[in-house]
Amino acid sequence: MTKRIAPGGRIGILGGGQLGRMLALAAAEMGFSTHIYCPEETSPAAEVATHTARGAYEDETELAKFAAQVDVITYEFENVPAHTAEFLSTLKPVRPGVAALATAQDRLVEKDFMRSNGIATAPYAQIDSLEDLTQALHEIGTPAILKTRRFGYDGKGQTKIDALVDAENAWQIIGKQPAILEGFVPFAREISVLVARNTNGDLAAFEPGENIHRNHILHTTTVPAAIDASLVAYAMKIAEQIAAKLDYVGIMGVEFFHVATNETTPLVVNEIAPRVHNSGHWTQDACQTSQFEQHIRAICNWPLGPTKRLSDVIMTNLIGNDIDEWAALLSEENTTLHMYNKADARPGRKMGHINQLNTRKS
Ligand code: AMP
Repeated sequence: MTKRIAPGGRIGILGGGQLGRMLALAAAEMGFSTHIYCPEETSPAAEVATHTARGAYEDETELAKFAAQVDVITYEFENVPAHTAEFLSTLKPVRPGVAALATAQDRLVEKDFMRSNGIATAPYAQIDSLEDLTQALHEIGTPAILKTRRFGYDGKGQTKIDALVDAENAWQIIGKQPAILEGFVPFAREISVLVARNTNGDLAAFEPGENIHRNHILHTTTVPAAIDASLVAYAMKIAEQIAAKLDYVGIMGVEFFHVATNETTPLVVNEIAPRVHNSGHWTQDACQTSQFEQHIRAICNWPLGPTKRLSDVIMTNLIGNDIDEWAALLSEENTTLHMYNKADARPGRKMGHINQLNTRKS
C-alpha cells in the first residue's frame, strides 16, 4: 500500500491559476502547506499558497529545487510539458501520473484509449495531411469537427466543417498541425463527471452536472442534470472505469455528450481533463467534499470523501466584466461568491464564479 501523506506535508502544484488557488486553499484546510511553481511573477494561486517558486517549466535546476521541498507534485493545467512531468517524476511522485497526462494531452491517444476500452466516442480519424482530411471527410461525412491533437481548450484549435469543399480552409485554420477529425455528435446536452481515484485504487465519482457554454467557455453547470437516474449512474460508472483503466491518481473531469436519440449509445465521451475542472466547482458548496479537497485526498492517499450532493445547485462563471456585479450577486439568496482576485477583467477571462443552491432551472 502506498504511504499516506500526513497533515504537515507539503503539496507542490504546477501552475498558478484559479484552480491552483482553490487547490491550495483546500490543502490548507487539511493541514498541508503548499508550494506553487509557475513562470508568472504574481498569480491567483501564489497569493494563498505557503511558498511560490517562479521558474520556467523547462528549467530543470529550478524544478529540482522545487521537487526537493515537496512531498508530492500535482498540476492545475493539463498542458504541463511531458518532459517536465517526466523529469519531476524521477524526483518525487507526480500525481496524476505521466501516462495519464500523456493520454489526456493528445486527442488521438485519448480517443484510441477509449476505443480500446470499449468506451463510446464520436467517430474519428487521424489527420496528418489535407489528403487524410479529404478521405476522412468522405468516410465520416459532414458536419464534422477538425481538432488539433494537442493544446486545444475552450474551443481553441478546432473548426467545424460543413461541406467537403471546406476541407482546405479548415486545414489552414488549424495551422496544418497533427489533428483528428470527429464526426459531429447531435447531442441533446453536455454533461460532465468528476471522478477521483487514490493510490489505493479507491474510486468515488460525483454525479454529472449539465454544462452550458457561451462563446466556447463554460457558462453554467446545473446539478442535477436533466437525465434519468439510470444515465446518471451509467455516466459515473464510465468515469470510474476510465480512471481505473488509466491507473489514475487524483481527480479527473470526464466530459460526455448525451445523445438522447440514441438508445443503445446514449453517452459519448468527448474528452477527459486530468485535473480539477471548472464543471466541478459546484461541489464546493453543494457537497461535503469539494473536488479540490477530493483531489488532495486522492494524491495523498487519504480515504476519499463523501460525494453525495446535498442540494440542487447552479454554478455560474463570472467572465470578464461579469465580476462587476459582485455586490449584487452577494445579496442574492443562497449564493456563494468565489473570487480569484485577478487584476484585469479582460473579456473572456474567468474572474470568479457563484454557486446558487436549491435553484431550479426556470
Ligand atoms: P472540446 O474542446 O473538445 O471540448 O470541444 C468544445 C465544444 O465543441 C464542445 O463542448 C462541444 O460543444 C463542441 N464539440 C466538440 N466536439 C464535438 C463533436 N464531435 N460533435 C459536436 N459538438 C462538438
